[in-house]
Amino acid sequence: MPVSAPESNFYAEWRCREGRANLLRDSGGRVPERLLQIVWYHQRLLRDQLSTLDGRPIRILHPGFWNHEAGPDFRGAVVQIGGEPARSGDVEIDLRPEGWRDHGHDRNPNFENVILHVVWEAETDSIAPAPALALKPFLDSPIEELALWLGSESAQNYPAPIKGQCSAPLGELSEEKLDGLLRQAAFVRLRRKANEFQARAREAGWEQALWEGLFRALGYKNNVWPMQRLAELLPRVAGEKRSAHFWQAWLFGMGGLLPTQPEESDSDEYLRGIWEIWWRERDASSDLIFPRSLWRFNGLRPANFPQRRLALAAHWVADKKFFPRLEKWFTGSISVAPLSDLLALLQVDNDEFWCRHWSFRSAGLPGTQPLIGVARVSDLAVNVILPWLWMRAVVGKNELLQRRAEKFFFEWPAAEDNSVLRLARQRLLAGASPRRFKTAAAQQGLLQIVRDFCNHSNAICAECQFPDLVRSWNLGGVEPKASGSVTPGL
Ligand code: SF4
Repeated sequence: MPVSAPESNFYAEWRCREGRANLLRDSGGRVPERLLQIVWYHQRLLRDQLSTLDGRPIRILHPGFWNHEAGPDFRGAVVQIGGEPARSGDVEIDLRPEGWRDHGHDRNPNFENVILHVVWEAETDSIAPAPALALKPFLDSPIEELALWLGSESAQNYPAPIKGQCSAPLGELSEEKLDGLLRQAAFVRLRRKANEFQARAREAGWEQALWEGLFRALGYKNNVWPMQRLAELLPRVAGEKRSAHFWQAWLFGMGGLLPTQPEESDSDEYLRGIWEIWWRERDASSDLIFPRSLWRFNGLRPANFPQRRLALAAHWVADKKFFPRLEKWFTGSISVAPLSDLLALLQVDNDEFWCRHWSFRSAGLPGTQPLIGVARVSDLAVNVILPWLWMRAVVGKNELLQRRAEKFFFEWPAAEDNSVLRLARQRLLAGASPRRFKTAAAQQGLLQIVRDFCNHSNAICAECQFPDLVRSWNLGGVEPKASGSVTPGL
């Protein structure tokens, strides 16, 4: 394929001319892994000639989805090797087969689902447990051309295999129809979450159900379960009025997150105070203390370390007016800025230690750092607080408050972007900009579609019924239904 210089893009032309877009130049002539990843992503290969290092023909039915987080480079690829049935799994890209061991993939459980090790060139057989494919003999153009092609517009487009089969029918929907579909999917998601709160409230009461939801959400995706478990243990010491300091000691201690007991000479006043409380408490619950290995810190920004999230939650739990204040926020006169008001309600800016430290042993920060920001509050609102309030209104048969929860939910400003939304926009909406989503409900709708359809299919959209559903929706006749994973009639 010849290099296609953009014809009408002054900036792109300049980049190509100046060689700014040439990854080979930046790497001193060595083929950088980044270039291999892009070649793989766009499948710039002689696809019908590919064979593995051990000589078996291989068909790439789908290259997988580029993973920008920890773990293999591509997730969910579909490949067929020799006469075997097609397999779905991850793809890791390294320069050479030895990279598998040199980069520690052989000791990393994140790489257990790798079905193909893609390398640039090889002098050995595969070293990974999976078959290996060397790209160098199978490029569809010389590597120098490919490196230049990166600067062209066509390289910036999403490759065809990334688009799901629903992408075309979704592209035919008017903006209004697409918004309507996302809105209905979002409502399914609201009801599903609310239903989970109701089920838990039957067992443990509404307040406990909310604590568990809030703690879970503070665990992000990495630490959901230890956070949930800590919330489940709260009633063991609830009842008496306790300070935020007490709750911090208890949550850190139960969570196995406290650093070793300070020495006599240790000048760390905060840690000494926490240990003073915890050593009196720990014997009563020693069989329930978590191993520290339960927590995952990889890839977390310091501001999101579980210790800081627990420090924040300790303030909420210590606040006997937390629930009345939350209810007042919801049932009082409608605010013009519910997000700012909720942020003010959940924010803690007087924690002398945690507003100035990322962790127990970190150096003090030059200024204070809030314990929670707008993005996390938005996330808590749409995923936890509003579904919980909505279900309480439904159960209490308070139609006015039910409508209010729906109004808040559907008008809530868009929350922070994330990797699931990014991939969903690529697959379903041809790479639509995140700015396309003005409300958190539209994001929630997209997430629900991923849950109902993408998560039950594979990268090549096998047996997915969503494209048919979209076509029916476009004809105006059929009310969209979620999959069987959602209880009907809630
Ligand atoms: S699996 Fe279904 S919903 Fe997901 S991208 Fe493919 S066609 Fe669309």
